[in-house]
Amino acid sequence: MPLRLEMPVQYVKGVGPARAAMLQKAKIGTVEDLLNYRPFRYEDRSSFRLMNQLRVGEDALVEGEIAVCGNYSTPMKKVRIFEMVVEDRSGALAVKFFNQPYLQHVLRNGQRLILYGQVRRDDYTQRPVLLNPEWELVVSSSDAAIHSGRIVPIYRRVGKLTTRSLRVIVHRAVTGLQRDIHDPIPDRLLEKHGLPDRRRAWRELHFPARPEDRKREAFLEDLESSAAPAQRRFVFEEFFLFHLGLQAVRRDRESLPKTRRIEINDGVREVVKGILPFHPTSAQKRVVGEIVGDLRSGNVMRRLLHGDVGSGKTIVALQAMVVVLENGFQTALMAPTEILAEQHFQTLSRYLRDTGYSLALLTGRVRGKRRQGILERIRSGGVQLVIGTHALIEAPVRFRDLGLAVIDEQHRFGVLQRSRLMGKGDQPDVLIMTATPIPRSLALTVYGDLDLSVLDELPPGRQPVETVLYSERDRHRVYGLLQRELAQGRQAYVVYPLIEESDKLELRAAEEMTGQLRKVFPGYKLGLIHGRLKSEEKDAQMQALRDGTIQILVATTVVEVGLDVPNATVMVVEHADRFGLSQLHQLRGRIGRGRHRGTCVLMTGEAPSENAFRRLDIMCRTSDGFRIAEEDLEIRGPGEFVGTRQSGIPQFRFGNIVRDRRVLELAAREARDHFSLLTGDAKGAGKDELARLADQWRSRFGLFDVG
Ligand code: ADP
Ligand code: MG
Repeated sequence: MPLRLEMPVQYVKGVGPARAAMLQKAKIGTVEDLLNYRPFRYEDRSSFRLMNQLRVGEDALVEGEIAVCGNYSTPMKKVRIFEMVVEDRSGALAVKFFNQPYLQHVLRNGQRLILYGQVRRDDYTQRPVLLNPEWELVVSSSDAAIHSGRIVPIYRRVGKLTTRSLRVIVHRAVTGLQRDIHDPIPDRLLEKHGLPDRRRAWRELHFPARPEDRKREAFLEDLESSAAPAQRRFVFEEFFLFHLGLQAVRRDRESLPKTRRIEINDGVREVVKGILPFHPTSAQKRVVGEIVGDLRSGNVMRRLLHGDVGSGKTIVALQAMVVVLENGFQTALMAPTEILAEQHFQTLSRYLRDTGYSLALLTGRVRGKRRQGILERIRSGGVQLVIGTHALIEAPVRFRDLGLAVIDEQHRFGVLQRSRLMGKGDQPDVLIMTATPIPRSLALTVYGDLDLSVLDELPPGRQPVETVLYSERDRHRVYGLLQRELAQGRQAYVVYPLIEESDKLELRAAEEMTGQLRKVFPGYKLGLIHGRLKSEEKDAQMQALRDGTIQILVATTVVEVGLDVPNATVMVVEHADRFGLSQLHQLRGRIGRGRHRGTCVLMTGEAPSENAFRRLDIMCRTSDGFRIAEEDLEIRGPGEFVGTRQSGIPQFRFGNIVRDRRVLELAAREARDHFSLLTGDAKGAGKDELARLADQWRSRFGLFDVG
């Protein structure tokens, strides 16, 4: 009986209950799951090397029989070595495994092995040797053809299932698979882009066969970079379905009617104008226009406002909030940290002083009676504008009629948190603000279901921050620079990297640095702020910096987002090479926010690595967040780019949004066309297909609840 995709994996010969359980743990439950368990690399075993021809330094694949083997310890008794001599028809080769004495229970004289590794020169014998190579037993000649004489897949172990057992199982699945399987990519597109159908693609994904017109080396390179036809097919499929689902979800939202009516009349315009402390830039005006358009439209808003650090997102959000407030609905602003929430509360209270609106601050720190009181007033409508941290989305917070929710510095929030805020009240309009400059290719994917507004202009009078790279040797010059700025009444940040908020060592380094700076700058007051402080203590420090009672703030990366102290003109970043470029860009955005020119000093150790130097040099050459982001993405890859899984970047199985961005763009374009085809389908079959796609999309990628 042929295997069908939805069958439990136990239907594959060789998979009993125990193995099925192991596979299940790795989320491999069906035949399809098994087929999608992709090899993490390939090995060219189409040709074995003969042992008497091995050259030191090359990666070699050999096959042979164990002549002798056993454990021993080095004279100093420090290292346990399992050593064997393996022979083929041409000669013999020594193989050593360090600290794996259990191998003596697995390997015996006379067994046949395939070994793969780099040939080294043995320090003792001066002869070629393999150290800790990868190895596989050749058990029976019947499946020898699966494991050698071809390019073979290498899998990560699943439970006790070795790459070899997996290879056998997958081989059976691939060869036993039913013929007619549904292909989510239409034939016409397969043909157009030269992609293999699904069945063939699975076969080739696991057991690649070199096309005749492709040289061996070139084909191996293709496989390495996921560019072989089968791999390209799965990358395309993934992006195609992603974008198709995205379109479907978007369409669902567009059909979601909004009951709220927002009107703009002269009265509203007056109030909005009245709160402005400065002339908005033309970018700010345009973006406010786009947002207000959404607010007034009949559909719920899901808009991303992207603006580089310091581009003035706060006032844009506030204008939108005022429009909604004037129409009698509540608004909320969610910030990622208490410090930021508090800063927003202060700023907005100041701007709205003459309007008579009632504002409330709700963070984790507001407790007891006061909290109850605020919650009650949010429910009754006594508070019109609520500013808070994630405390805002906790269960007891109920709005009377939330009209607009603004999420600031969104990359700090998890996906779940975003959608929870959206679930508050009666489908509030949602504005998400971020300063993380996201390259277009990425934005397309991460925020594909959102409308995008861009603040691409800085407020007038800003001078670009000058960025310089110094090493430890130049420390006295850095202090000289600090001294000059402080003498002119300016303030400074000294930033320490703290990988983990709980990292004691780093914390001590920051504390020591503070002590040292106190000695160097006896005339000035210093503060120290780090993740382990209570939020009250952090705030006190921040406030002190704002008030000018301290001149130097030593900080871990908690200063990264949003802080606005225009008089701070210098930032010294210690161990700058430990930060990501985007993070450095955010940090640097804390200075040069006022009338005075800012200087950012990136400190490195005595001898930064070539790579570190290259990265930091980019920071010195440009202040364009987009360019920095592109470089960062290039260097670090998308996973780390924004930080965590939480960042909202979808986890693709095959596709890599940096490496495969051309396929991504192609697939997105085809998905849009195909979407129009499906929606235009008169018989209505397309509609079902779209509903299914939207559901699938939500369950896999769903960043935003709409229903
Ligand atoms: P971000 O986009 O990083 O959140 P902010 O909203 O904090 O930026 O604004 C940065 C600084 O620029 C603030 O001090 C703000 O008052 C000021 N600002 C914003 N818009 C303008 C403008 N149009 N003219 C002058 N200053 C502005
Ligand atoms: Mg901000």
